[in-house]
Amino acid sequence: METFDHVIVGGGIIGASAAYHLKRKGAGSVLLLERNDLASAATSRAAGLVLQASTKYSKTPLAKMTTQIVPILEQEVGESVGYHDVGSLRIAASNERATELDAMVEDAVKWEIPVEFPSETEIRELVPWLDVSTILKSAYFPTDGYVDPYIMSMSYIKAARAMGAVVRPYSNVENILRQEKKVVGVVSNNEKIASGSVIDACGAWASVLSEHVGFALPMAPVRSHYWITEPSSSYGGEQPVTILPDVAAYTRPEVGGLVLGVQETCSASFNARDLPHDPAAFSPTQGEEHWDILTDAYDGLAQFFPAIKTARFSSYICGLSSYTPDGEVILGPIPDITGFYAVAGDCGSGVTLSAGMGDVISDLALKQKPAVDIARFKPDRFGKVNPFGERFRKRCAMARASKSYRLPSSPL
Ligand SMILES: Cc1cc2nc3c(=O)[nH]c(=O)nc-3n(C[C@H](O)[C@H](O)[C@H](O)COP(=O)(O)OP(=O)(O)OC[C@H]3O[C@@H](n4cnc5c(N)ncnc54)[C@H](O)[C@@H]3O)c2cc1C
Repeated sequence: METFDHVIVGGGIIGASAAYHLKRKGAGSVLLLERNDLASAATSRAAGLVLQASTKYSKTPLAKMTTQIVPILEQEVGESVGYHDVGSLRIAASNERATELDAMVEDAVKWEIPVEFPSETEIRELVPWLDVSTILKSAYFPTDGYVDPYIMSMSYIKAARAMGAVVRPYSNVENILRQEKKVVGVVSNNEKIASGSVIDACGAWASVLSEHVGFALPMAPVRSHYWITEPSSSYGGEQPVTILPDVAAYTRPEVGGLVLGVQETCSASFNARDLPHDPAAFSPTQGEEHWDILTDAYDGLAQFFPAIKTARFSSYICGLSSYTPDGEVILGPIPDITGFYAVAGDCGSGVTLSAGMGDVISDLALKQKPAVDIARFKPDRFGKVNPFGERFRKRCAMARASKSYRLPSSPL
């Protein structure tokens, strides 16, 4: 039987980051198992925004670690990870959003994340298509940006491999092996692999894997989506990511056009047990109603982006993120089971948080104290729940809606 000090299940950006951080900290043997192609599930569909300030202040230090790891990773792999440090411009057009923005700025300052307050003229230069008359308050975070999530994942993997990690795609994990309350390995492609430290980084399937140790993680797969416009000289070109919380939308540049994300009031949620192993075999799109979502958002969006009326949309990208009811990630040891750790419940921010989540989970697996407080991320913070039932899934879908800032965010 093969033996590894640590086994990570799931080869998306989070599992890749966990492998990288473990090896960086001098872990012994590390095995990453992915049942499909590497980074082929949620990771390959992400818009790739990297935003450090959040209404969930607990996430800020995790996100900051991602912007910090980029130059280090580039040096290690000897090539660009494709990070576009265009910054993000956050716009508030109502008192409520302005108050929220003030609090975000305060938090960013606390974590020493650079923030600037551009004038109207500067905003016009930064984002020429934006109607500045809508702006009540704005803040620009110059170190935010966007990244190609696939390239970033493969960079984590390349660096982890160079440090000795073993990475195996097409390796399904069917079971977790236990001796009473202690994890002793996994079964992958019908072979037993021994390990006293197993990390669940299975994305939308994480609760299905954790069920094998008798604890279904409190999260549900929820639909996320965005549209891409055709290139246009009216709004194309490299420019900051814009966040428009009053209309629950964001944009980022995309080869001469724009990616436009619009959050739904209540997204579709799914039972993780029903998801096929191959994400390509399942579409959360559910017919054509997504075009109605875009049409319904048009009037609101046009206040900020008047040229939307003439924009032509060429693509629609849809996938699953995993949400928890409180919008916080799941990061920590599974209660009462020695050697099983969860790094999941990304709440639509797994790219942004990838380095922070990988850093913390590697500390925990190595029995070291994480650099950030993980109390809010505990897997058992909701008690024992049924994450596959409709009621719980709806709570998770509502957390996605509150990420859009339309609903009051939960107390911090
Ligand atoms: C449309 C969309 C837009 C998004 N935009 C952004 C954004 O702008 N910024 C941002 O930060 N985040 C964004 N996200 C969220 C981001 O994609 C996720 O947070 C991130 O990809 C999660 O990474 P992951 O590694 O946890 O999951 P995944 O990438 O889904 O990887 C999990 C992997 O585990 C594997 N697996 C599962 N079970 C097993 C098993 N039993 N054995 C072996 N392998 C297994 C799966 O095959 C899968 O490859 C977006 C998501 C979507 C859908």
